[in-house]
Amino acid sequence: MPASATLAIDAKAKALQEAGADVISFGTGEPDFPTPARIVEAAVAACRDPKSHHYTPTAGLPALREAIAQKTQRDSGYAVVASQVLVTNGAKHALGNAFATLLDPGDEVLITAPYWTTYPESVVLAGGVPVIVPTDEASGFTTTPEQLATFASDRTKVLLFVSPSNPTGTVCSRKAMAEIGRTAAERGWWVVTDEIYEHLVYDGAKQHSLPVVVPELAERCIVVNGVSKTFAMTGWRVGWMIGPQPVIAAATNLQSQETSNVSNVAQFAALAALSDDTDSVMAMHEAFDRRRRRIHALLNEIPGVTCTNPLGAFYAFPSLIGVLGRSLRGRRARSTLELAEIVLDEVNVAFVPGEAFGAPGYARFSYALSDDDLERGISRFAALVAEAKD
Ligand code: PLP
Repeated sequence: MPASATLAIDAKAKALQEAGADVISFGTGEPDFPTPARIVEAAVAACRDPKSHHYTPTAGLPALREAIAQKTQRDSGYAVVASQVLVTNGAKHALGNAFATLLDPGDEVLITAPYWTTYPESVVLAGGVPVIVPTDEASGFTTTPEQLATFASDRTKVLLFVSPSNPTGTVCSRKAMAEIGRTAAERGWWVVTDEIYEHLVYDGAKQHSLPVVVPELAERCIVVNGVSKTFAMTGWRVGWMIGPQPVIAAATNLQSQETSNVSNVAQFAALAALSDDTDSVMAMHEAFDRRRRRIHALLNEIPGVTCTNPLGAFYAFPSLIGVLGRSLRGRRARSTLELAEIVLDEVNVAFVPGEAFGAPGYARFSYALSDDDLERGISRFAALVAEAKD
């Protein structure tokens, strides 16, 4: 099993930083903000209360499961009950639980590329077979029922769906979502839908929830979500999966043998996050939106670089194909993997090469970093490219 490619580049950049280098990293997949104070305070109070020094039920604190059910109704219009919720160690764990619960050995999972690196590995870990469905920039990195049909087989069990997308920032339209969801429902596929970036949409883009758009899918749908991205809580490790009760019961049994409950204190923090004070979330959203517009403009000014307008999450996903093969301080990158190394070595700027997402020629630039670092980092990269010789 390979290490997560996105974490690998981040680790290299952090090691260089610790060694004293002025590295600017666009590699990271987490907000640069601290967790809002009221959430931290709730955790401090939980820490001080001996009642939260013990196990909770494996599936989570009853109050948190209830709050997640209510939040799902409030934000997505999806009516679920607390017994359909399993609280997990982050959304990543929810995905792992979902695949382990749904898949028999050899079952196939359709995953569109560019994909978040964990999806295929998580399927493999569960004994399944990832089937990669390539999409391109021209289609806005979205698939169609016709395309899915060409990659489906009688072993297709699950379709992995994500909007807004990591790494492309694509937000799927309601119409495209309805077509994809109906295809899954007609063919009897399960859908695992990842909504972790639900609140991070911009330019008037609307986020929809698949089982709301296609209600007939609800009986074979797992919604994955969590507090990591919306509330700057990546380190607290609280996510969840929502699905039909038998699946949640099976996944809870699995989790009870693997990890038991999520940290009791972290669950109290998540409970506070889900109460409806959204001021701090809105402030973060505003900052992300400003940086999104800036990075999109700056990248498109670099000769050889083109970048579509990302409408969601906090990633820009430019094509760097026009930079490949050119001489950069005597080194020629034949792939974005090599280009990422050259750029890190030469100008101390880190980004994640598209190879990590099944999309060579592209790269993921996270804009979850300060405005100042964003400007400095992109101008260093632009200056290096400006030196390029054929
Ligand atoms: N899903 C997507 C699309 C992500 O980008 C990430 C994190 O990068 C996750 C899930 C995992 O989130 P968590 O930190 O809650 O495990």
